[in-house]
Amino acid sequence: MKEKDSARVERAVEVAKKAHEGQFRKTGEPYIIHPLAVKKILEEWGMDEDTIIAGILHDTIEDTDLTLDDIRNEFGESVAFLVDGVTKLSTARTGMRDIDTYLPETKDNFLRLMIALGDDIRVLIIKLADRLHNLRTLSALPPEKQKKIAKESLEVFAPLADRLNMGRLRVEMADLAFKYVDPKRFEELSNIIEKYNKSAERSLKQIEKEIGDALKKEKIKFEISGRVKSVYSLHKKLAKHNQNINEIYDLTALRIIVDDVTDCYLTLGIIHSLYRPMAGRIKDYIATPKQNGYQSIHTTVITKDKHVVEFQIRTREMHEYAERGLAASFYYNEQKLTENYKKGKIEHLPTNLLWITELQMTAARLREGKKVDLKKLKLNLFADKIFVYTPKGDIIDLPKGALPLDFAYRLHSEIGDHVVGVKINGKMSNLNKKLEQGDIVEILTSKNQTPKVSWLEKIFTPHARHKLLHTLNDNSRNSTPERPIPPTRKK
Ligand code: MN
Repeated sequence: MKEKDSARVERAVEVAKKAHEGQFRKTGEPYIIHPLAVKKILEEWGMDEDTIIAGILHDTIEDTDLTLDDIRNEFGESVAFLVDGVTKLSTARTGMRDIDTYLPETKDNFLRLMIALGDDIRVLIIKLADRLHNLRTLSALPPEKQKKIAKESLEVFAPLADRLNMGRLRVEMADLAFKYVDPKRFEELSNIIEKYNKSAERSLKQIEKEIGDALKKEKIKFEISGRVKSVYSLHKKLAKHNQNINEIYDLTALRIIVDDVTDCYLTLGIIHSLYRPMAGRIKDYIATPKQNGYQSIHTTVITKDKHVVEFQIRTREMHEYAERGLAASFYYNEQKLTENYKKGKIEHLPTNLLWITELQMTAARLREGKKVDLKKLKLNLFADKIFVYTPKGDIIDLPKGALPLDFAYRLHSEIGDHVVGVKINGKMSNLNKKLEQGDIVEILTSKNQTPKVSWLEKIFTPHARHKLLHTLNDNSRNSTPERPIPPTRKK
């Protein structure tokens, strides 16, 4: 992907080498191996130069004589900021004595994580790269430490990777960690997966050929490949299905990548004309993406020789996004995103990642010393999202519980400020109506409308509350308000 390091990156490597000189990892290798591995991971994810440099320097503040000022002077504010964030994240973790009280999260650690994160999501991406390399080299640590790091990776970092839709990372992390958390089970399940794949091998080759021929006949350009089932996700699925392996339908899976959405649906049709689809196993995550923005069509079929095979059909772009998630967005919009981060603007994130905006606003509140309801904060990160549509079909993601005004302010504050009514699925509705998954929401506006204090009662998201308060404050400066604006609604 990259031909040659830039002078800045080369310089960062030099600085890190010098700083870590004489230090060794538990593996016995010189310490610099680790930051260089993190560099490589970040490059593979397609991250921007500042992130890569910060990755190279990520352990210098904590472990060497280098200071934040040194880094700022040589590499600029943005790199210093990222290194500082990663350092804060690890100091937040040093306080944990016992993993069981730390997990699922002590409030303090969680808070610090959020504050560091809120400033720049790239901090988390560096941390994930750091953790990935540490997991890859975990065997050098004493068993007790191995378990601790592995458990934390399974319960905190892998779910975060999933939240960012970094599928490839989630799978690698979870499987590496699961091996240490439960070695016996890991072995057992790996064998099952291997056996299944072996028994399906011939049949899969046959299917690949049949589908390939059919797609060629329809002049659809495609790539087809097997996908490896992750051991940890099988473990979790089995737990959900009373350990009944016969209820797991995606042990064998084929992935088909085509040029565009139309071809995805055409391919689905072709597959169903060749094999018998299983009822209730068709999932259209293209029309309704998963919470983390994942898109694909899934269908499970039964082949002529009675094999159960799951297909995943998606475009190249959906595939990149499923594998690399937020990192892929950086790759596609690198310049734009980085520029906007520098300017403190985050509006150009893909819509399905707007939860990050909410996170950042919450972090800003925390920094200003304002009160934040931690329960609500957790909700923003992990709660269910719903996807609703504009009449034109744009997908907007909102937290469960969102109301029409949240939707309106998400579109634009100009729209939010002038709401006079709402149509949900073509019918007139009211502003107290909770939006539901798949609703088509049309906001009616009037130029003469002005925002009302009472609207604060009809708002669920911090984002919309913030926008509304902003306008209310502006307006009250120009005229005497009839009554004072209440701070935040009690829930
Ligand atoms: Mn490190």
